[in-house]
Amino acid sequence: MSTVSERKIHPLGTHRVLEPAGAMPQSAWKIDNTPVARANEILCDVETLNVDSASFKQIADACDRDPARIAEHILGIVGERGKQHNPVTGSGGMFIGSVAEVGEALRGNVALQPGDRIASLVSLSLTPLHVEEITRVDVATGRVWIRGKAILFESGIWAKLPADIDENVALAVLDVAGAPAQVKRLCKPGQTVVVIGAAGKSGMLSCAEARRQVGSEGHVIGVVPHPESESAQLILSDHLVDTLVRADARDALELSEKVAGVVPALADVTINCVNVPATEMASILCTKDDGIVYFFSMSTSFTAAALGAEGVGRDVTMIIGNGYAKDHAETALQTLRDHPHLHDYFNAKYATKH
Ligand code: NAP
Repeated sequence: MSTVSERKIHPLGTHRVLEPAGAMPQSAWKIDNTPVARANEILCDVETLNVDSASFKQIADACDRDPARIAEHILGIVGERGKQHNPVTGSGGMFIGSVAEVGEALRGNVALQPGDRIASLVSLSLTPLHVEEITRVDVATGRVWIRGKAILFESGIWAKLPADIDENVALAVLDVAGAPAQVKRLCKPGQTVVVIGAAGKSGMLSCAEARRQVGSEGHVIGVVPHPESESAQLILSDHLVDTLVRADARDALELSEKVAGVVPALADVTINCVNVPATEMASILCTKDDGIVYFFSMSTSFTAAALGAEGVGRDVTMIIGNGYAKDHAETALQTLRDHPHLHDYFNAKYATKH
């Protein structure tokens, strides 16, 4: 097998794919994580990984939420695949760190210098990652502190960390930046929007953006399993939602009946932000004919969504949660800046503790 140093470099990073032949870095089982920048790559010193919520929950459950076992598990995945690409959920996450080296072909062509602090905006599921040591795992937030290096491809996207937001808060927000950016695009004044998993990271930001878009004539419903939680109470008291509905989104009938009890015409737009499988039908059933379902959740099954909608004869437009949308990083960070109580909550939960 040819090594990465022998293969022709490609902007999309295909020169790093080890197996199977012909795969892209994301779909590859294994990529080369040699921590050396090729001419069109950016080498970064990585400090923190924000493991995607669906992935972290699966790993934490498999390891009885024991930080040491979780660290071992992650080292195992990265050792086997050259990237933090959870083989069960298929999802990744993102990192923050500093630029160590800009490859010679990119120097002067990208607005990055060694030492710049950045967050990756491409998934860890395609990012070559070399972990020397895992120093800490925070089971409550899915963050993992490491000593290691990562490679960003020429096509990769990144954001310089903002000066006015704590780095770990920015990491948490940027991980889910696609959600509020898509909500901004999809929701219109006066509409009814249902956000499932409304009290999680992406859910809270989605409620805030939905509230802004639908205005006072619209209706935002937040579906949460634990309405008594601090984050659920915050979205209610801050008027990011008009109504909180307590439901388990795996119970499609219960959820859709509760939503119909609040808005009989059902939702124009439903945003799915949960981190567990089997919630496709609930999302479809609480959305009106000709409505839109946006599946941001990485636990979404294409088959369950497609066959489920067909099975109940519901003509809804279903959108896969593309993590990227134009200006998504700035939209998500601005959503936080515009909502001081939300910002305080994120600070309390995610900010760097000195
Ligand atoms: P999060 O902060 O962990 O929030 C998940 C929320 O789902 C929690 O509030 C949780 O409520 C709720 N939930 C769990 N089980 C539920 C159920 N049965 N019924 C109703 N709600 C339930 O996660 P996140 O970081 O916002 O991520 C949300 C999803 O987006 C995950 O699947 C993640 O993998 C995915 N994601 C997608 C992209 C993308 O590019 N598309 C990027 C990043 C993340 P409780 O905490 O009260 O149990």
